[in-house]
This record gives sequence, C-alpha cells and structure tokens, in this order.
Amino acid sequence: MDLNFTPEEIAFREEARRFFRTEIPAAIRAKVAEGEGLTRDDMITSQRILNARGWAVPNWPVQWGGQDWSPIQVYLYQDEMQQADCPPPIAFNASMVGPVIAQFGSEEMKQRFLPATANADIFWCQGFSEPGSGSDLASLRTKAERKGDKWIINGQKIWTTLAQYADWIFCLCRTDPSAKQQEGISFILIDMKTPGITVRPIYTIDGGREVNEVFFDNVEVPAENLVGQENKGWDYAKFLLGNERTGIARVGNSKAKIARIKHLAALEFAGEQPLIEDPRFQEKLAAIEVELKALEMTQLRVVSDERKLAKGKQNPASSILKLKGSVIQQQLTELLMEVVGPYAMPYQRDFDGNNEPVVGPGYATEAAPMYFNYRKVSIYGGSNEIQRNIIAKAILGL
Ligand SMILES: Cc1cc2nc3c(=O)[nH]c(=O)nc-3n(C[C@H](O)[C@H](O)[C@H](O)COP(=O)(O)OP(=O)(O)OC[C@H]3O[C@@H](n4cnc5c(N)ncnc54)[C@H](O)[C@@H]3O)c2cc1C
Repeated sequence: MDLNFTPEEIAFREEARRFFRTEIPAAIRAKVAEGEGLTRDDMITSQRILNARGWAVPNWPVQWGGQDWSPIQVYLYQDEMQQADCPPPIAFNASMVGPVIAQFGSEEMKQRFLPATANADIFWCQGFSEPGSGSDLASLRTKAERKGDKWIINGQKIWTTLAQYADWIFCLCRTDPSAKQQEGISFILIDMKTPGITVRPIYTIDGGREVNEVFFDNVEVPAENLVGQENKGWDYAKFLLGNERTGIARVGNSKAKIARIKHLAALEFAGEQPLIEDPRFQEKLAAIEVELKALEMTQLRVVSDERKLAKGKQNPASSILKLKGSVIQQQLTELLMEVVGPYAMPYQRDFDGNNEPVVGPGYATEAAPMYFNYRKVSIYGGSNEIQRNIIAKAILGL
C-alpha cells in the first residue's frame, strides 16, 4: 500500500481546503465547530454552494451531477470538508435516497427528483426505523396496501431525523405480509404534506430537537412513488447502507475537535499552569490522537481496497471505521467536558425560561450539550454492538 499522495492529489486537497474555508459562510462553520444545531436554511445554503461547484453529490453517476473521482479524491474531499467544519451535504439526499433513485428509479422518477435532491430543493428524511424494528429492521410493520392507482400507508416510524424540516420521506413499508420478512418490503417516496401524516418531536437528552416520531394514518400515495420493483425494497435499503463506507469514521471531524480542544485547553488553567501543559491531560489527549491516527490509517487502507469493490456492496471493514470512529468522537466530547471543568455544569440549552447570563466562558456552553448529544453516535447507523457482530462474522469469521 502506497500512502503517499500524488502531486495531483495534493493539488486537489489544496483546492478542496481553499473552497471549504472560503466559500461556506464562516457563521455556519462556527456553528458546526461549536456543536450548535444548524437551521434548515443553514443546511440548504451550504448544500447549494456545494452543488453550484458540482460537489454536493460527488458519489452520484456523473450524468446526474456526480464526479468521476477516485476513492482517494473522495477521501480527501471528506477529510477537508470535515476539518473545515463545513456541514456535509444532507445525508438523506446525497448519500441515501439520491443514489437509490439513480440506480433503481424509472427515468421519469430520476428527472423529477434527482436535480431537486442534489440542490436541496427537496429536503428528505429517512423513514426506516420503527418501535421494535431498529437493529432488527426487517421486522418493520408499517403497511402499504395497493388500492387502484394508490398506496394506502398505515403505521409509525421513529427516530426520524429532521422530519420537522423535511419535504419528503423515503420509507420502507411492508407490502407482502405473507412473504419472508426481507422479501415483503417496498421502498416508497412520500410527500410530507400528504393528509394523514403527523410528526411528533422526541426531545433528546441535550435538550435538542433532532429526532421525531412520524405517524401514517390512511395516507394516500400515488402508485408511481414506488421505487423500482414491489417487494424489492430490502435490496435497495442494503444498497443505500452500502453507500456510506469511509466518511462514517468522521476522522476529519475528530481532527477539528482535537484542534479546538488544544486551543481551549491553552485558555483554561490546571492550578498554576495552562491545562494544555498538564502532563495528565497531555497523556489523555495523546492517547486519543494515537487512536485517531491508527483509525485514519485503517480508513486509508479501506479506501485503497475500495477500487476492488463493486459499487453499492458493503465493505465489512466500514464496521471497524464506524465503531472506532464513534468511540473516539465520544472520548473527545468527554475531554472537552474536562477542559471546561465545572463550567460545563450550569448550562442547559433551550431550557424554558432560562434568561440568566452564561456562567463561565462562552465556549463552555458547548461542552455539555455536545457530550450528551454524542451518545447517539454509537447508536445510529447501526449500533456498536451490531458493528461488533458484523466484525466477528464477516471479518474474523467467528
Ligand atoms: C440520533 C439518532 C438518529 C436516528 N435517525 C434515524 C433516521 O433518520 N431514520 C431512521 O430510520 N432511523 C434513525 N435512527 C434509528 C437507528 O437506526 C436505531 O436507533 C438503531 O438502528 C438501533 O435500533 P433501536 O433504537 O431500535 O435499538 P434496538 O435495536 O432495540 O437495540 C437496543 C440495544 O440492544 C442491542 N442489540 C440489538 N440487537 C442486538 C444483537 N443482535 N446483538 C447484540 N446487541 C444487540 C443494541 O446494540 C442496543 O444496545 C436514529 C437513531 C438515533 C439515536
């Protein structure tokens, strides 16, 4: 494995660095750096700037706005984007529903949805999980019954990220209850304005509103909103999940967090000396940096293997990236709590009626919400226990 970048790759990295740091508004990047929630407008603004540059959906077929990049270019693009605290393209649009429509949708469906999805004219959300069907997704029960030229949808989705912002939802629905679990599921696109849909917030432990329950009560959906073939939805869902292979490690984000932690640790004191000079703190930070370096090397190894993999086929090594990446992200949020020390305690984001001034330095307010919010990273996208099962079976052959 040759880990040296070619001169063209180095030039590409520099171009990406300059673009993300100059074209994406600083106010939006500051929100990402500080762990503040982005508004719908922030996400759409950022995605449209990327799209104007041709960089919103590089993973799509070139015909639909994708880039014919090498896996190394994809890696450099993600790494620079994450290190610049640039919001990634809306995942539901760019990495999830877009590639599925491009691969399995009719020509008419592609024309209708792909340009609008790339430009975030449509904001999508993902309706897969249900109460009791998360890790065991194939047991999902939301039903779609064919009546003439419509589907009638009944059921409930849960943990639907940003459903409150979404114009459309892509759903896995059971269309053949008598078939084997995986063989009776279809992939259906649903306009969120359709009568019979109710979105209810679930407030997270950090006080944020990011996830929701979505209820379907006799929701009528045009038959043509079925993607591909009836009862083949499980295959499309596997293709969708196979698309996110390396960016999931979020190495660039963790590099940005380490830089921020170092900056803040130089401002805080441990006794007489800046915290950054405290040997015990240095030891903890170095241990995480070493782990991150090892993860980056693993990521590059996976990237170099990508060339041999068929598109849409899951590389089991991505489970290692997800697992280690999430552990490191959580460790960094813990370290940030240590940096701000007792000032992490008094702050409660969005606490009703809280009009008191912030106690401690302004940057202390980001630590506790981020620490609590990041409990999610070892759950979504397949929990860490599930990743361990995959590693045991598919990599270690146990
Ligand atoms: C912040 C956040 C955002 C999300 N966004 C979305 C979204 O937009 N759309 C969407 O469809 N879903 C979304 N999800 C749902 C996510 O995919 C599920 O939470 C996840 O798949 C786990 O499912 P579950 O919550 O039902 O837990 P369960 O599957 O019930 O798991 C509970 C516990 O049991 C463990 N477990 C389960 N099965 C096994 C096993 N076979 N072996 C060992 N341990 C096991 C799990 O690891 C976990 O610790 C989101 C979740 C979170 C936390």
